[in-house]
Amino acid sequence: DYGPAPEDSSIVRDWLQRHEAGFGHFIDGAFTAAADTFAVTEPATGQQIARVSQGSAEDVDAAVKAARRAQGPWAALPGHDRARHLYALARHVQQHARFLAVLETIDNGKPIRESRDIDIPLVARHFYHHAGWAELIADEFPGQRPHGVCGQVIPWNFPLLMLAWKVAPALAAGNTVVLKPAEYTPLTALAFAEIAREAGLPKGVLNIVTGDGATGAALTGHPGVDKVAFTGSTEVGRLIRRQTAGSGKALTLELGGKSPFIVFADADLDAAVEGVVDSIWFNQGEVCCAGSRILVAESVAARFTDLLKRRMAKLTVGDPLDKNTDLGAIVHPVQLARIRALVEQGRAEGARIHQGTAPEGCFYPPTLATGVEPASTLASEEIFGPVATLTAFRTPADAVALANNSRYGLAASVWSENISLATDIAAKVKAGVVWINSANLFDAGAGFGGYRESGFGREGGREGMAACLTLPTPVAQTPEETP
Ligand code: NAD
Repeated sequence: DYGPAPEDSSIVRDWLQRHEAGFGHFIDGAFTAAADTFAVTEPATGQQIARVSQGSAEDVDAAVKAARRAQGPWAALPGHDRARHLYALARHVQQHARFLAVLETIDNGKPIRESRDIDIPLVARHFYHHAGWAELIADEFPGQRPHGVCGQVIPWNFPLLMLAWKVAPALAAGNTVVLKPAEYTPLTALAFAEIAREAGLPKGVLNIVTGDGATGAALTGHPGVDKVAFTGSTEVGRLIRRQTAGSGKALTLELGGKSPFIVFADADLDAAVEGVVDSIWFNQGEVCCAGSRILVAESVAARFTDLLKRRMAKLTVGDPLDKNTDLGAIVHPVQLARIRALVEQGRAEGARIHQGTAPEGCFYPPTLATGVEPASTLASEEIFGPVATLTAFRTPADAVALANNSRYGLAASVWSENISLATDIAAKVKAGVVWINSANLFDAGAGFGGYRESGFGREGGREGMAACLTLPTPVAQTPEETP
């Protein structure tokens, strides 16, 4: 067990110091010289911690060409050789786990307890899991082949974990990758590039180009990209869908959510309170599948609200590097302003706002809004902050109707001691993943993805592998061959 770990922080600070001149892109197995850089800040302090390069269309083109050159040889490797590379990546992530956890916490603002116990272990797990798939593909997906070059764009809430979700299955299937991390949090992707080089990943198989939305658009629009995978906001997902329409590119989109957290009267209420903590107050609520709409059976609503308020008051908001911190910093002042504006709008619409405490700076307290109408801003807009609404329901049918009253369909959580009721409700809620008596559990072996405006396609498990492969054009059968 380690907490602020001064020695780990100093390794990260030394690493940042060594790159003081700025980070270049990682293309064809080497770092380019830093050019046209922009600042990356530490959310908890507001201090600049690094400068990274703003990727141009030429940088994206160079990376796509490197990925194209590497793709044939990479796909031609026997599955067990690709597996060896993925195992090596997993082991190297584990060797550098402390460094990566501290760097992620400094760059994103998430509590060290979460980056140490959740993000980085899941990154390693993802590479181990997909190393297994690299060996199985030939038997499990006979006749299928990789798309070719994958262009991947990821958000800032789980920077390295989102990289792992995208990169591990793509490489296992024999694709090569150009990935653009989010502009707020590019540092663990760059550290991962160093780790990949150290682990002996062949050059060009993984390329990282940093930059903003324009860099992302240059990548998703590049004609040399065969498959686009995007995780981020529904607005940008829509732009990319339009941009790639008719291009022949394969596309998967993992977008926003407004997930219901349904508590029945017979639920273990103390466990459900902890479920809420893990669901909406985990990662400052910057979680696409956060249980941001709590729906509670009317008969226990008052008691549950009281328990939640008491638990909320005990959560510690502050220094992300302190292992006792429950909620760290909000990723960026722009995101903080967005959360504040939405909560104020909710207040103006008549919601009652209950809050814990938070220090000055880029922090926001855990928040519960009661008295919200289902159609109101707080109950329908994705806030991407530690803000939950609480609404009472009368019957199971009401609960399902409220749960499905959303343009999203990413996740849901159902709490009841009656397993028949819970599974019945789970089947009726339109969501890509439904947890029963639990929340925010992820496994590399289970497909994750949404319905409706939450996107399409799955990542993880067999479905995720299928999305990284394509069937060759079927050969027409002659009449004699038709039985
Ligand atoms: P965002 O859409 O603003 O940015 C995501 C990424 O897209 C960034 O790397 C950004 O630079 C890039 N980008 C921006 N404009 C682009 C364009 N026109 N073309 C190509 N790329 C472009 O989202 P965000 O603010 O970084 O992340 C928050 C959102 O991500 C939330 O809505 C959240 O729900 C969603 N999210 C979804 C999942 C999921 O699995 N469904 C996971 C995490 C986050």
